[in-house]
Amino acid sequence: MATILLQPGEVFEHFHSEPSLTVLVQGTVEAELTGQVVLLEPGKPLPVPAKTPHSITNIGAQVAEVSCVGTGATLQHRAPD
Ligand SMILES: [Zn+2]
Repeated sequence: MATILLQPGEVFEHFHSEPSLTVLVQGTVEAELTGQVVLLEPGKPLPVPAKTPHSITNIGAQVAEVSCVGTGATLQHRAPD
């Protein structure tokens, strides 16, 4: 799991080798993934496919915090659907 701190106005573009979930921890953050811009909301993680670049932008006035959670590392004991 990677925790990313963003200053107001800061943009952070990256990708992961595994599928992941982008989770808003605090602040007001926009995420861009495959050309679509979404506002991250608390409790609504954004699924990101493996090796897919995505950028996150702090559009608020406070420092924001986002976690990218790798499914391989943290969600491997999934309950059956
Ligand atoms: Zn990420």
